[in-house]
Amino acid sequence: MTTIYHDEDADPAVLAGCSVAVIGYGNQGRSWALNLRDSGFDIRVCVRADATRDQAAADGFTPGELADASDADVVCILIPDDVIPLVELRRPADGLTIVASGYTLAFGRLDPDGDVGMVAPRMLGPEVRACYEEGIGFITAVGVHRDVTGHALERVLAVAQAIGGLRQGAIELTPRQEAILDLAEEQVRAPVMTHMTSTYIQCLLEHGIPLEAIIVETLLSGETERTMRLVREHGYAYQFGFHSPTSQYGQLSRREAFSEIDLAPRMRELLDDIASGRFADEWDAERDAGYPVLNELRERHAGASVAEFEAALREQLGQGAAGR
Ligand code: NDP
Repeated sequence: MTTIYHDEDADPAVLAGCSVAVIGYGNQGRSWALNLRDSGFDIRVCVRADATRDQAAADGFTPGELADASDADVVCILIPDDVIPLVELRRPADGLTIVASGYTLAFGRLDPDGDVGMVAPRMLGPEVRACYEEGIGFITAVGVHRDVTGHALERVLAVAQAIGGLRQGAIELTPRQEAILDLAEEQVRAPVMTHMTSTYIQCLLEHGIPLEAIIVETLLSGETERTMRLVREHGYAYQFGFHSPTSQYGQLSRREAFSEIDLAPRMRELLDDIASGRFADEWDAERDAGYPVLNELRERHAGASVAEFEAALREQLGQGAAGR
């Protein structure tokens, strides 16, 4: 049975008097530093000298060098997973090192001395701050990679609580389980959805439906998003009653229409790339080469031409500029 921790399972006293360092001040780093400070911790922000350091100073921290983190009792490493192994850290045997994703621990890219744990928010970085301020918190995955002191779990839970990560519950996973699940969402489920959507658009175009109308229907109207919100908040069965009888009959009677397509073999191959560490090796090689493939793919699928098309459509709909 999966263990789910809540606020009452954590004791902030286990970190009383501990020095806490946050490495990185980006998506997660800024939110964690602000949340930890508001939860009563004295935070040392450790970043390279550039724009994020300026941001940390503007937020009232006195930013230090990356190396300054090494001797803190607790270090939260909040920089991209691919560059975490490049940072030199020497950790004391009674220290606690926390990552926000199981990736580096799962694939042997990080192995500091002392206690090592994971607090992985199921929430985008800036929302980690917004949900803390709103008092609602967010769901996390928590786990212990190594327990040297015998108190690793208690300390990991105290950090999770301080950032707002126990308010809605924290699911206990090993870093490896978390990493496989997280990468599978990105590399297995998302590509299936992308392929399904593009095939769907192609077939509707063949019936003379304008591309703009299809995109509005599938995305921009917000109907899908709000329906999924109802599913999340109240469950599938509850929200189903809000669909018309025609819709209900159509959805249910065609529910198995694609069941003869066997997605499992390809899914298993992709999962095996993740679980075996082949993807991590590929990603390291991409980093070492200066990200040429990532840059080319970004330009092709999320570059200027895509942004222009989307901006024009939003303008037509009176939805304003992207990001508003
Ligand atoms: P960001 O890309 O936002 O991190 C940016 C920060 O990392 C900046 O301070 C940046 O400094 C620093 N940084 C980048 N490269 C280096 C480097 N080579 N050496 C030192 N510092 C560097 O990262 P995220 O917040 O997105 O991710 C942090 C962790 O959180 C990851 O483990 C990720 O998997 C996890 N996570 C992220 C989520 C998200 O919403 N993005 C969701 C859940 C977990 P500089 O300005 O100098 O480049």
